[in-house]
Amino acid sequence: MTPQAPRPEEFAAGRPVLFRDATVLTMDPAIGVLDRGDVLVRGERIDQVGRDLQAPEEAVVVDCAGGILMPGMVDTHRHMWQTALRGLGSDWTLSQYFVFYYLTWGKIFRPEDIHAGNLLSAVEAVDAGVTTTVDWSHGLQTPEHGDAAVEALRAVPGRFVLAYGNLLGAPWEWVNSPDFRAFVDRNFSSRDDMLGLQLAFDVTGDAAFPEKAAFEAARELGLPVTTHAGVWGATDDRGIRLMWDHGFMTPDVTYVHSATLSEDSYHRIAASGGTVSVSAESEHNAGQGYPPTWRLRRHGIPVSLSVDTSVWFSADLFSAMRATLSADRTREHMTAHETGETVVHNSLRARDVVEWATIGGAGVLGLSDTIGSLTPGKQADLVLIKNDRSPAMYPILHPYGHVVYQATRADVHTVLVNGTMVKYAHELVGADLGRARDAVAATVEYARTAMGEDAWREAVEPEIPETETISNPYHYSDYRGEGVAVRQQEG
Ligand SMILES: [Zn+2]
Repeated sequence: MTPQAPRPEEFAAGRPVLFRDATVLTMDPAIGVLDRGDVLVRGERIDQVGRDLQAPEEAVVVDCAGGILMPGMVDTHRHMWQTALRGLGSDWTLSQYFVFYYLTWGKIFRPEDIHAGNLLSAVEAVDAGVTTTVDWSHGLQTPEHGDAAVEALRAVPGRFVLAYGNLLGAPWEWVNSPDFRAFVDRNFSSRDDMLGLQLAFDVTGDAAFPEKAAFEAARELGLPVTTHAGVWGATDDRGIRLMWDHGFMTPDVTYVHSATLSEDSYHRIAASGGTVSVSAESEHNAGQGYPPTWRLRRHGIPVSLSVDTSVWFSADLFSAMRATLSADRTREHMTAHETGETVVHNSLRARDVVEWATIGGAGVLGLSDTIGSLTPGKQADLVLIKNDRSPAMYPILHPYGHVVYQATRADVHTVLVNGTMVKYAHELVGADLGRARDAVAATVEYARTAMGEDAWREAVEPEIPETETISNPYHYSDYRGEGVAVRQQEG
C-alpha cells in the first residue's frame, strides 16, 4: 500500500468508492472494455462506469493503474462442506469419492463440521474474487446440519445460494418432511439476494421415477433444482428422459457436468432452456466425462463454471477458466488431427470463458439483472486484479487472456460484494479466516480420529494399479566412429 492509498476502515462508513484508471472488463456488451476506465460505486450499487469520472467529494479513491477491474465471479456448483478435508482426495477416482462420502464416511459429519467446511470455503471464495457461490450442500443429514450451513454462509460477506441436499437420504422423502419445511420457513421466509435457496438432488434413472415427488416439492416451493447429470457410471440419459416426460425440465434447472449424454439429451436441455455447470478440473480428473463445452456450444446451451469440491481440486475460477479453455481447445485439435487436419483459428476465445465465469453464472442463477456485469444500476460485486509485485501482471495486452492465463488468485487485490469491501490491498476485510481455520482444525482432528489411521492413510494414498510398461524395440549405443553403424535394432 502506498502512503496515499486509503486505509480499509475508510470504506466502512458507506462512502462512495471510485475505482480509477483500470482496464475495465465490464462484461456488458453495450459498454465493452475500457482502457484507463473508472467505476463509481455508491452504496450497494454501481453508479457510473466511464472515463475520467468526477470523484464525489466524500469518495474514497482506489488507484487501479496496472490492474484489471471485472465483475465478481460466479461459481454455480461447489460442495462447500467438503472443504473441511481440503485436498484429502487429491488422488481419488470418482468411485473412491462415492465410497468415501456416500457409503462410508459421509455419515460422520456433524452440523459443526458442515459449518466449519462452509466457513472456510466461503472465506476462500470471496478472497479469490468469487463473489457468488452455489453451495451444493449434499451433506445435510438433518435440518440442524442445514442451519449450520446457513449460519456459516451468513457469517461471511459474500453472496451465496444454498442448494440443499442430503446424499444419505431419499430426496422425495427429506424434501417433503415437516422438519425440512420448517427449516425453509425458519431461514428463507423472505427473498434475499445475498442468500438464495435451491434444491440439490440427482436423478438415478430408476424407471419408477421416485424423484417425481421431489420435483413436485420444488415446484410447490418455487425453488430451482440443480442436479448432477451425465456423470459416467452414475447418471445418464434415462434421468433426462424421465425429467422431460414428466415436465420437470424447466429453464431454472442446472445440469451439473453433463459430460456423458447423448445428442438427444443435449437437444432436450437446449429445448427446455436449461443450463449446464461445467467443472472442467473435476471432469478431467474424476471421470464424469470430457468437459462438454464443445458440445454445449453447438447446442446453444448456456454455460456456467464451477469448481465442484476442494477435497480434490482447486476452488478458484482462474483455474476453472483455464481448465475449461484448455479442454475445449484440446478437443478441437484432437478431432482435427484424427482426419489429418490442423486447427488454424480457435473457435473458443478467452473472452468466452470470462463471460461464463461472470455474466454466464449470473444468468444461470436468474440474477443477470442484479450482478454479473459492471453496469450502472447493478449491485456492486466487483474484483480488482492488480499486483505490482508480480512480473506476470505486466504488460497487459490482451485483458481477457490475461485474466485466464496470466492472473491467479494471488493477484486479487480488492473485492466488493454488494457494495461492501470484503478484501482490500490483498487483505480480507470483515471475513474471519482465523475462526474458519480453528473450526476446520477441530473437524480434521475429529474426522481423523473417527476414521482411524488406516482409513485416513488409505484416503490420502489410494492403491495404485499396476501400469504395463510397453517394450521398446530400440537400443541406443554410443557413437563409434565414421562408417560404423551407431544404432542397432533388436528383434
Ligand atoms: Zn458435484
